[in-house]
Amino acid sequence: MDHPKFVIEVSEAESMAKSSGFTLKQLLPNLVVSAQTLARVPISNFHVGAVGVGPSGRIFFGVNLEFPGLPLHHSVHAEQFLVTNLFINGETNLDCLAVSAAPCGHCRQFLQEIRGAPDVKILITSDEEQGFTPLSQFLSHRFGPHDLLPDDIPLLLEPRHNGLNFSGEINNSPTGICNNGYHPNEKLKYAALEAANKSHAPYSGSPSGVALIDSDGKIYKGSYIESAAYNPSMGPVQAALVSYVAGGGGDYQQVVGAVLVEKEGAVVKQEQTAKLLLQSISSQCQFKTFFCTS
Ligand SMILES: [Zn+2]
Repeated sequence: MDHPKFVIEVSEAESMAKSSGFTLKQLLPNLVVSAQTLARVPISNFHVGAVGVGPSGRIFFGVNLEFPGLPLHHSVHAEQFLVTNLFINGETNLDCLAVSAAPCGHCRQFLQEIRGAPDVKILITSDEEQGFTPLSQFLSHRFGPHDLLPDDIPLLLEPRHNGLNFSGEINNSPTGICNNGYHPNEKLKYAALEAANKSHAPYSGSPSGVALIDSDGKIYKGSYIESAAYNPSMGPVQAALVSYVAGGGGDYQQVVGAVLVEKEGAVVKQEQTAKLLLQSISSQCQFKTFFCTS
């Protein structure tokens, strides 16, 4: 690997644990400092690292991302990055995580989207005396998916397919509606559709996804993730930037193209915000939206 790793495969995680005499869980706090070095925080210079393990036994990293020139709500917190990293890699749950600073209220809320959230164990490395503590103790009297959704709706990290496609009745064109002269390649367009179909948007029914392409032609996908409390939701561009950073992407200026797929007539629309964020991080990035039916 020629770039920092954001996922440690099972075999490597097990051998790291074995050679250090730790369990996988005990290994997590020891990896937090190396995660912190990967944060991209030009505004605060406050590096947050989160390291978690899921049922597969793989270890995942999360870091915070900040975007100068934009309002702070565009930022990605390390715990959100971690959960998005799990999502991208098909991990179906989060067992425990270690993080360098106490999770903010926003992240305690965001984590509620995972099934069994109250049982996720959290260790704060700046306060290790406390050990791994259930999320239910960080956020009691929780408001979450159970307040708004029936039990049979897939939660975050659980498999779903939103049924979006390009061949609806929008304009009888296989390419959907385009908003400028940019003609992204088919691979990029279908990557964005795939991301939109995995999007966790049960509250608004407005799934969306973004695919980015860099100057080497590598594609990065991100799915929009909603929170029951709305504000901690994670935009599709932010999710794609998690893929970009975790996938070894360098300077954001190397992002040269982006496609957003969202639902025609959606009550929650990403297009203008996505454009704003992309233009801000990469002046040369071309952008196009495709509207789908389901
Ligand atoms: Zn946070």
